[in-house]
Amino acid sequence: MAARIAYGPAVPYFVRPLSNQRQIPLRYVSTRGRAPVLDFSDVLLVGLAEDGGLYVPEFWPNISAQEIASYAGKTYAQVAVDIMARFTESAISRAELAPIVEAAYAGFDHPAIAPLRQLDSGEWLLELFHGPTLSFKDYALQVVGRLFDHVLQRRKLHMTVVGATSGDTGSAAIEACRDRDAITAFILHPQGRITEVQRRQMTTVTSPNVHNIAIQGTFDDCQALVKQMFGDLAFRERMRLTAVNSINWARVMAQVVYYFTAAVALGAPSRVPSFSVPTGNFGDAFAGHVARRMGLGIPQMTIATNRNDILVRLLEGGVYRKGPVMSSISPSIDIQVSSNFERLLLEIEGNDPNIVRDRMAQMDATGEFRISDTALRRIRTQFDGCGVSEEETLRCMAEVQRKSNIVIDPHTAVAVVAGRAKRKSKDVPIVHLSTAHAAKFPDAVRQASGSDAPLPKRLADLYQRKERLDVLPNDLNKVKAYVEERAGV
Ligand SMILES: *Cc1c(COP(=O)(O)O)cnc(C)c1O
Repeated sequence: MAARIAYGPAVPYFVRPLSNQRQIPLRYVSTRGRAPVLDFSDVLLVGLAEDGGLYVPEFWPNISAQEIASYAGKTYAQVAVDIMARFTESAISRAELAPIVEAAYAGFDHPAIAPLRQLDSGEWLLELFHGPTLSFKDYALQVVGRLFDHVLQRRKLHMTVVGATSGDTGSAAIEACRDRDAITAFILHPQGRITEVQRRQMTTVTSPNVHNIAIQGTFDDCQALVKQMFGDLAFRERMRLTAVNSINWARVMAQVVYYFTAAVALGAPSRVPSFSVPTGNFGDAFAGHVARRMGLGIPQMTIATNRNDILVRLLEGGVYRKGPVMSSISPSIDIQVSSNFERLLLEIEGNDPNIVRDRMAQMDATGEFRISDTALRRIRTQFDGCGVSEEETLRCMAEVQRKSNIVIDPHTAVAVVAGRAKRKSKDVPIVHLSTAHAAKFPDAVRQASGSDAPLPKRLADLYQRKERLDVLPNDLNKVKAYVEERAGV
């Protein structure tokens, strides 16, 4: 049996596990059903499944109310080990995992790792910017980089990390991969479409195993290039390609943790808050969904987007349709194809991988597909969605600074606006995910309030450091040749 929601609102439909046999240890299957069933370490290394799908666990491990209650006395790292071990045990034991996780969070600059900060009565910000690159992506990637090292050393392998970034993933991935002997990393970003702080956070890492590539195109172009490199099986095998973007299951897994720690800090299991999540690729929001599936009774989850609102439109009309990417002041969510949605799609379409394969083929052919009425009903019971305008984002940033004396970044503001707009009950506390430090988006902060964002110590000499990057056209063959020359495999 998959995990039922133990408390909070009853979920009116039930997830059928992919296999009726509850396999221990937990293994992973592709959303498209035509790739090998793998253990955790293989899922970590391959990223995208061979059939183009994404790996998901065969069932959701359950965390009981007593276990949730016991998290109250534990550190963030201890809770992280307890939750992640349930997903890794097919390959990495709890005892092996513990020092990896401890080391991953040792460099964070707040003792609570993911502290809550009160915004108003019953309203909180979950600060997820206390890692080395000041965005929530460190929370997963600091763990994932170390997991790679662990598994590759055990297998005596060298691998090539290829990733696309709309800003924050790249620097977090680079920090996770730098100076690791077993990995060469190639990170693609859309030239001129990320902030200078974001660019410098990547390009000032001059480790020889890290290559920054500025693509003359959009983030979706970068992501398409990465997908196409993975789609060429010969190239993929020759280069031993692997992904670090949020299609990698290990990242989603690591992000489940802070939903639990935040909820416990506010009184879970007896009182569980709602969450509002600034959403691009849907990895973070899906991690909240996983927390729910594991037993955390989250009453309401809001998908917060900017004008790039593919998921909001899906929730409204049941059609998943790619639109043109629009640049915004919250660039890390300027995404019109939310890759992780495929994981939810499998579930809401009754766990039938044939339907997912069919829909995704339709997406490739026509740029859109319609989900079934049942699936639409299911997703609406799970999520609310809200697209936030630039003006609303800026107004919110200014207001939060004026009323609560907190400088928030534009992504956080998107979450706050959407969370407030969709909030169903004032009696249920709400947590807005604060996914980046305001200093990463100084232009937006200045535009909103006329003042400068405080510069944290980690960024103090960023503008003095030397940059290293190469510019390439949006051309698959050129990018492949570049990787081939430098991968060192
Ligand atoms: C990546 C990112 C997001 C979006 O997260 P997804 O998992 O892609 O939905 C939101 N905010 C910030 C600051 C980010 O860097």
